[in-house]
Formats: sequence, structure tokens, C-alpha cells
Amino acid sequence: MKNKVTKIGVLTSGGDSPGMNACVRAVVRTGLYNNIEMFGIMRGYTGMVEDDIVKLESRSVANIIQRGGTVLKTSRSKEFLTPEGRKKAYGNLKKHGINGLVIIGGDGSFRGAQIFSSEFDIPCIGLPGTIDKDIAGTDFTIGFDTAVNTAVEAIDKIRDTAEAHDRLFIIEVMGRDAGYIALHSGIATGAENILIPEKKTDIENIIGQLAEKERRHKLVNLIVVAEGEEFGGADEVAKYIKGRLPLLEVRVCILGHIQRGGAPSCMDRLLASRMGYHAIECLIDGRHNVFVGVVNNKINYIPLDEAIKKKQKVSEEWLKIVKILAT
Ligand code: ADP
Repeated sequence: MKNKVTKIGVLTSGGDSPGMNACVRAVVRTGLYNNIEMFGIMRGYTGMVEDDIVKLESRSVANIIQRGGTVLKTSRSKEFLTPEGRKKAYGNLKKHGINGLVIIGGDGSFRGAQIFSSEFDIPCIGLPGTIDKDIAGTDFTIGFDTAVNTAVEAIDKIRDTAEAHDRLFIIEVMGRDAGYIALHSGIATGAENILIPEKKTDIENIIGQLAEKERRHKLVNLIVVAEGEEFGGADEVAKYIKGRLPLLEVRVCILGHIQRGGAPSCMDRLLASRMGYHAIECLIDGRHNVFVGVVNNKINYIPLDEAIKKKQKVSEEWLKIVKILAT
């Protein structure tokens, strides 16, 4: 039997991503449209444990669709990892009468939601908000497109200076476990090599290519490296290459946190708005413990466990394209 949801809490949790605000706006406004009372839970699960919960109206989410970051703030909560912390969180939700939750975050936040909903009678709906696009069951995650575009803009600029000096640049982008930002930004900028955690790096092949370029005095070469690839990031790759080709001028550029910030792209705003709307529809329809994904441009509801158990795989098609286009 369906339990009618009357009060819904929304939170942003774990690593932030551009588009989280657009998503909060969509969740809140769709909820209010359906005569549901809406609450913002501040700083992710921390606000749930500490009762930092505020009532939200339509105006509370005005003028945020274009802003990066998250107005609800985010955090990582150690207390929520414990049964006592989650019990406290449940007590606080009950106090406000909240009987449905929307969690915008990555796979860690989904894991928290899954455990919480197995312990207590609060249906949870996840929305994938992460720049890494590392969640299985959805083609895109909120923030990925913006992060890639930020990386592309930066790498294009680096190519200008690399061309001017005929230099080798090693550029590190985010992605501790997933190479999607490196893969997409590397392909889009015509990088000569892309190093990602999902694929073993053939460093001897790269050294061979560079030695040949050195011989021809044609050294413009961009290597895009995901921070979690096997060498341990751009500095380590540079050190290794320098060790093997000591005469080579190598420059390293680590893009870092600029990839998390900035105004969300149109695509991320649309994705966030669409997913936010569907999260409320899910709760009204009595669904629980699923996350909203998009596959082949269609909305899918995927059990939270699947996002936790599986990682999104890098497609062989892209890897082949990289190999062909970079030669
Ligand atoms: P992300 O959602 O970006 O992957 P984290 O992995 O840091 O970020 O997870 C965000 C939060 O989710 C954690 O700080 C913690 O409060 C909660 N969480 C993660 N894993 C669990 C778990 N196994 N049990 C309970 N809560 C969890």
C-alpha cells in the first residue's frame, strides 16, 4: 500500500557538482506544485544528524539555477556512518514530519541512503550529482558536462602555449576512480595521449612516440591524465618521462578544483531539472530506494544497490576512437 508523502526533505551530499542548485530548485518547485511541504537539509547528512533543517518555499530557490556549488551546502558526515548517527537523523526527520527524502550526490551518498532506508520507514530517491560520471545505470550525471567543458577550455589554452614553445604538457584532470573527464576532455581537445584508471597505460609506447618527436624537434604533445591513473597523477607521469628522456622539457598543469565550480552548462541545467522533477514523481508514485537515471535519453529508475555495486564502464568504442584519432 502506498503511504502518501506529505513532507519531503532534500539534501546535497558528498562531492559538490555544478547543477546541484538547478536540481534542488526542480525538486522543491515540483514538490510545492503537488502540495507537498518541502524542507532543505543543510550540509548533507550532517544536517540530518544535527537537525539543521529549513522549510523551503518557491522563492527560496529563486535565482539559483545558474549558480555553481550548492545553496544547501554539502559535507561528508562521519556520524551518519554509525547506527547511532542514523537513529538521531531519523528522530530529527520524524520531528519535522518528513516522510520522503531526495538525496543528490554520488555513490557514497547513495550507499548512505540505501542503508538508512533499510533501517527506517523513509523512502529515499537518489539523484546522481557528481562530476565523475562514475555511476552505473545512467548515461550522464549532473555536473559532468560542466566539468568537462571547464577542462576543455583550460586544455585549449594550454595547447596554445604548448604550440608556441613546442613543449610537452601533462595535464591532470579530476577522476580518482573514473577516467571519464580525462577521456571526454582529451578527445575533445585532440590530446595525443589519455591516461585513465580503467585502462593499463602503455608507457613504453608513449616514451617511444616522444623519443621520435624529440628526434624530429616536433614536441607539441598533450597528455591528459586522470588523477587516479596507475602512475598516481601528472607529477608522477612527468617524473617517469623525465627519467627516461632527460633532455625533454616537460610542463605539468593540474586543473584541480576549478573543475567543480562555475555556472552549470545548459545540458546540466536541463538534466538537473528533469531528474529533480522525476524524483518527486517517484515519491508520489510510491517508489523507494531507487535513483533516477537517463539511458538513451529516457528516464530510468534504478535500484540504489546497482549504483553501489557497479561502476560505469568506459566504452571500448571511445578507447578505439582515442587510439585512431590521436595518431
Ligand atoms: P559521494 O556521494 O560524492 O560519493 P562520499 O563517498 O563522501 O561522497 O559519501 C557522502 C556521505 O554519504 C558520507 O560522508 C557518509 O555520511 C554517507 N555514506 C557513505 N557511505 C556510507 C555508508 N556505508 N553508510 C552510511 N553512510 C554512508
